[in-house]
Amino acid sequence: MTVDVTKPYDPDNIFAKILRGEIPSKKVYEDEWSYAFYDINAQAKTHILIVPKGAYVSWDDFSTKASAEEIAGFVRAVGKVARDSDLVEPGYRLLANVGHHAGQEVPHLHVHLFGGEPLGPMIA
Ligand code: IMP
Repeated sequence: MTVDVTKPYDPDNIFAKILRGEIPSKKVYEDEWSYAFYDINAQAKTHILIVPKGAYVSWDDFSTKASAEEIAGFVRAVGKVARDSDLVEPGYRLLANVGHHAGQEVPHLHVHLFGGEPLGPMIA
């Protein structure tokens, strides 16, 4: 089931449960605004998900409702996770699926960080 990004935030989604510590995750990084953990079904040698701690369904929700401080904190966290994972050189890819056409499955904004190997032209 893909996400209808026009629906209100569901506090029982799987990433909300991960943020509350109700289900386990392999933590990579955490700060005031953000939490990062390994994807359960890695699509590259390194596949990390970074989520804002706030309740945002999608990039659209986040970019319209989050404070400038929250947005800056999250964007910096994404960069830090990549840097701390030694991915800046040789490189990495960021991806955020939004809604049906992109195949978004979890209704809490997440940025995929792929790296650790050559990624090819695009991950579909
Ligand atoms: P989406 O298609 O962009 O919504 O990506 C959802 C991602 O969440 C997929 O890559 C899943 O493998 C990943 N995922 C789903 N459940 C879990 C979990 O419990 N832990 C870590 N990753 C998860």
